[in-house]
Formats: sequence, C-alpha cells, structure tokens
Amino acid sequence: MIRLGDCELHVVSDGFFKLDGGAMFGIVPKVVWERSVEADAKNRIRLALSTMLIRTGRKNILVDTGIGTKHEPKFAEMYAIEHPPTVPESLRKVGLTPAEIDAVVISHLHFDHAGGATVREGGALVPAFPRATYYIQRGMWDEAQLPNARTRGSYLDEDFLPLERAGRVKLIDGDVEIEKGVTCRRTGGHVRHHQSVFVESGGRTAVYWADLIPTTAHVKPAWTMGYDLFPHEVADLKQKFLAQAAREEWVNFFEHDAKVAMAYVRDGYRVEPVERVAV
Ligand SMILES: [Zn+2]
Repeated sequence: MIRLGDCELHVVSDGFFKLDGGAMFGIVPKVVWERSVEADAKNRIRLALSTMLIRTGRKNILVDTGIGTKHEPKFAEMYAIEHPPTVPESLRKVGLTPAEIDAVVISHLHFDHAGGATVREGGALVPAFPRATYYIQRGMWDEAQLPNARTRGSYLDEDFLPLERAGRVKLIDGDVEIEKGVTCRRTGGHVRHHQSVFVESGGRTAVYWADLIPTTAHVKPAWTMGYDLFPHEVADLKQKFLAQAAREEWVNFFEHDAKVAMAYVRDGYRVEPVERVAV
C-alpha cells in the first residue's frame, strides 16, 4: 500500500494468467524480450492480474476487476489461470467485502480486465460488486457489442451485459473526474476507447495505465503489444506521458507485471520499483 495525499492505493490481486509472449511484445524479437521475461514451453509468459483499490476516506474505488471466477476448466487451463487469490479474497486482506466497493472503473472490456465484474450466483450472472457504480467509456460499451473478426475473442458478453441488466453501468465520454482527484482519461491506443485512471492528491500523481503500459518491460515506446489496435498511438502516448511521469515523479501502476506492481519510471525508461507483486 502507498499513501498519496488523502488517498491509499492498494494492489488487489486476482492471481496470474499466461499469454503468448510474441503477442505481448509485437514487433520485438523473442531473442530480445526473452532477456526481460521468461517464456514457458508453449512460449507463454506469466502475467499478473493486479487491480488497484483507491481508498479516498469517503469512497472505495476499484480499478479493473481481473479475469474473475466464472470460467470453464478448459478456458482456465488455456490461459493458465492461477487462483487463489481472487479479488474478493484480496479485498478481505484489507478488511473490505465486495459490497463495500462504491465504484468500479473498467479500463476496457477485454476479459482479463472485466471478467471479475460479474459472478455466477445460483445459476444467474450478477454484478460482483452489488452496490457499485461501474464506469465504462460509452464508445467501449458500443464496440464490445459489435466486435470484428480480430477482436471477437477478447469480449465475453457475460462480463458486462449483466451489469446493465442490474442498472449498475454509468457510461462516460472522454476524460471524467469521478471523485475528487480520481480521473478516468480516455487514451485510446490499445483499443479505441481504452481509459487509464489518474489519481491526484497531496500534490502527487499516480496512474493505473491498464493495457497502455501493461508491464515494466513495456515502458519503452516501441515495445507495444501485438494486441494493440493502434500501436503507433501507444508508442506516442508512452513517450509523451512517461516524460512527464519522470519529471513529476508519478507512481506508475502496472496491471500485468508479474513482479512489480508500482514503480517510478526515471529518465531513460529506468524502472525503480515502489511495490512488488505478492508471490
Ligand atoms: Zn490485459
């Protein structure tokens, strides 16, 4: 946990999963990325599912929800999902239940970010955080329901349609401050309506990048993912944002890094860990 002005920022883990290393590093050759990250026999790399809890004193805000627990064994095996911990178990460690979460921000609706938004309860799919308002970019909401051949595999209706049926969705457009000092910023890049979350308190800034910069290996601008729909935008955004992050000493939150959850990024894209992922 780190303190940022009036806010506490906690790493809330939904365990780990694996994705193809080549897909995670786009045009970077394996002989190069292998120096930073180890691949298994199927060429997959281990990734964290680290969500961020913001406690403002008034509100408990969760950013992203992990991959969740609804999956069939075949899916869990394909993605090598490692539970425990799950988000509810990790919340319990900080003394909270899912019903005490007031707001959930979903960076984008890919299943490794929105999967934990809903749970199966007696045969029905319901919001995992029953009292929370779920903040989702309107463009993301629309796009997830009209996927194309390349993006279809990333969106699962069961992750988000039950939220709408329960009346818990708040669609937002562009940059929106949802609570004092907590701002959703539409970045695009990874997908057209991807959003990152900026927390500003006590004169300091922390950013949950989500899939704009998923791991510390991705801080270098050219290290974009094969999954990125607009890799040139991702590269430009990283260059711009990380120059400011270095100057102003932002705390950077890396959702998928298996080792480092929060870090400073210094000049020359040098990563200085602030908080590690619990093993
Ligand atoms: Zn992801």
